[in-house]
Amino acid sequence: MSSVLWKSVLVTGSSRGIGLQLVTELARSCNRPGIIIATARDPTTSTDLQELSKTYPGVHIVKLDVDSQQSISSALEEVQSIVGNKGLNCLINNAAIGFSMDLNTVTPEAMMKTFQTNSVSPLFVSKTFLPLLQTAAAQSSGMGIHRAAVINISSILGSVEWTWGESANFKSYAYRTSKAALNMLTRCLAVDLGSDGILCMSLHPGWVKTDMGGPHEKLSGVLLWICCSVWRGQRNSSWNRSEETKTWPLPCPRTS
Ligand code: NDP
Repeated sequence: MSSVLWKSVLVTGSSRGIGLQLVTELARSCNRPGIIIATARDPTTSTDLQELSKTYPGVHIVKLDVDSQQSISSALEEVQSIVGNKGLNCLINNAAIGFSMDLNTVTPEAMMKTFQTNSVSPLFVSKTFLPLLQTAAAQSSGMGIHRAAVINISSILGSVEWTWGESANFKSYAYRTSKAALNMLTRCLAVDLGSDGILCMSLHPGWVKTDMGGPHEKLSGVLLWICCSVWRGQRNSSWNRSEETKTWPLPCPRTS
């Protein structure tokens, strides 16, 4: 247990939805990282996040608008002072926006805005935090979350392979193409950062009942699986139902 306490994770877009649930589950985990940095573009609007940081030690709230380089740079300074010379082990690029827009309703503005938040921002957040990830990576060996990782929360809607049959009915030019771009970005980062020992991967969290996911689905078990399997350092970059069966329910009992 003590060997993992110094490890750190940062999640973007933690004010609500999957980001908030990720930091909550990490904070509650019996094998939790010592430092959990929950970032939000306006932390004052998320009472859940405020409560979380009061309840669990080691949960730090940092202001971060992923669309603003100035905000990213300020957040870097703050995170640097939190993690010190241990660096940052895991960056989870979760913040995103989504619009349903078909061929009739899609606009250049919606395309550009969605690309900015969902594709461009994860690149520049990763690039800005790279020195902290490299610092963490230099202190360990192997490849995995125990060393350093960039986890991009993508979506199966960004998969070109998944555009036939029923899934073709989900019309969102901006969202789907931005997630396809994020997947390629992840692969490019993996090629560039592999020699530094930094794992880069995309994850599809499943269909989750959030403001973005809508009211119809809830697959929180999938989310928990991701959260905990990532933390265990699994390197699977694709969704695998049989793995889910093997690792769920979690061996770790809830403490609250
Ligand atoms: P939500 O809409 O519920 O939450 C989005 C989060 O992103 C909010 O915290 C929001 O902050 C934040 N955000 C948006 N823009 C910015 C920005 N410029 N700077 C900082 N934070 C920002 O979405 P989900 O929780 O459902 O989605 C989380 C991730 O999971 C996304 O990457 C999404 O694409 C992916 N995903 C979700 C699925 C689902 O079914 N829900 C399925 C597949 C993938 P604020 O409160 O300030 O607006």
